[in-house]
Amino acid sequence: MNHERSRALYGRALSVLPGGVNSAVRAAPQPYPLFVERGDGGHVIDADGNRYVDWVMGLGPLLLGHDTPEPVQSAIQSRAAEGPMYGMPTELEIEHAEFVCRHVPSVEMLRFVNSGTEATVSAVRLARAVTGRNKIVVMQGGYHGAQESTLVEGTADDPAPSSAGIPRSFAEETIPIPFNDVEAARDAFRNHGDDIAGVLVEPVQANMGIVYPQDGYHDSLRELCDEYGSLLLFDEVITGFRVGGLHCAQGKFDVDPDVTTFGKIVGGGYPVGAIGGKTEYIEEFTPTGDVFQAGTFSGHPVTMAAGLETLKFCAEHDVYDHVDSIGTQLREGLSELLEDHAPEYTVVGTDSLFKVVFTRTETDPQDCANGCRQDPTCSRFGACPKRGTDTADAETERYARLFRPAMIEEGVLVSQNQFEANFVSYGHTESDVEETLEAYKHAL
Ligand SMILES: *Cc1c(COP(=O)(O)O)cnc(C)c1O
Repeated sequence: MNHERSRALYGRALSVLPGGVNSAVRAAPQPYPLFVERGDGGHVIDADGNRYVDWVMGLGPLLLGHDTPEPVQSAIQSRAAEGPMYGMPTELEIEHAEFVCRHVPSVEMLRFVNSGTEATVSAVRLARAVTGRNKIVVMQGGYHGAQESTLVEGTADDPAPSSAGIPRSFAEETIPIPFNDVEAARDAFRNHGDDIAGVLVEPVQANMGIVYPQDGYHDSLRELCDEYGSLLLFDEVITGFRVGGLHCAQGKFDVDPDVTTFGKIVGGGYPVGAIGGKTEYIEEFTPTGDVFQAGTFSGHPVTMAAGLETLKFCAEHDVYDHVDSIGTQLREGLSELLEDHAPEYTVVGTDSLFKVVFTRTETDPQDCANGCRQDPTCSRFGACPKRGTDTADAETERYARLFRPAMIEEGVLVSQNQFEANFVSYGHTESDVEETLEAYKHAL
């Protein structure tokens, strides 16, 4: 396969963009990233004209695939034709917020912003303001965007910034605990309960492997937050309108968070974020409350049109049935493949998320054929990743240096590193599944 033009573009990019990219993870592919020419359904075509089955799917936003259906496309075009934006409100923002409030159980009111990062920044500020406390509990291996309060690693007793440029004193207000570990959450509250503003958690950890919550885990977090007067903040930037369909992961797991952050799908492929929740909290944002929150591009008309029409299209078509069924076919197919080709590896994922984590312990893969559910009675339970950080112990180098390049040669793009999820879209077909399973068979 020829990648000459991608290579040349990368050379040019390195002179003017750090690492040749505008978001760090895009530089992960070895030996250099492929530059994209265009998308087509469930496929992308690179700068050299090579076509791939695409499971990167924009890193999550493209639930409908690269081809937006007619009503979505025409809504976007007609908004763009009426001038890009105004700095004044439009009816579209109300309509989109009404749609989200109607479908997401805990959300009564919403503030739109421009990225998932902005959403989590504002949610953390809100939780601190509402409670008058500073500390935020996060999960080790969780991701909440490029923000100061959550780019934190280490343990509850010894948190440290995970990026240069973040003051240690900021990290000291963050309490990183292991996901799926109720005892660790209890300890954090026992030790710091009166200082904890909120717990910020991805309902399914989806940025470092895909880790399903153990049965009752989120209920325990909910109870702890209630007991100590802290807010439960669900980061549904990935899971929102993907896991659990239009009701999101909180609907699937029947949990009632105080505040929810959205991003990705809710903008239909355009830059977006949102903070939703109970009216009593969301009204704390300015101008109704005292928590400053503003953005020149927030509620951008083109984004609102794309997001709203995407979700309406999902409500009116078999989108979730389709993507979840393709997800199941992939997870089951991969489980079957692994039995013969790599019995130590673990298939993870749910709904339209899937992944093979290159774990190292060989066990019987049969109980969890449709993706790991963190079931203590499963024969693989001892070997599966229980929390995002466990994925770091998997064979990341093999993934990056051998596996992913081999998949590219097979014409299939999987996540750009071992940590991120693969995303199924409405544009993917059963023949994409077959091609992908065949590629895994050769590349594993
Ligand atoms: C992608 C992501 C974010 C950050 O969103 P951006 O739009 O990239 O700023 C936050 N939280 C989660 C769970 C995400 O997956």
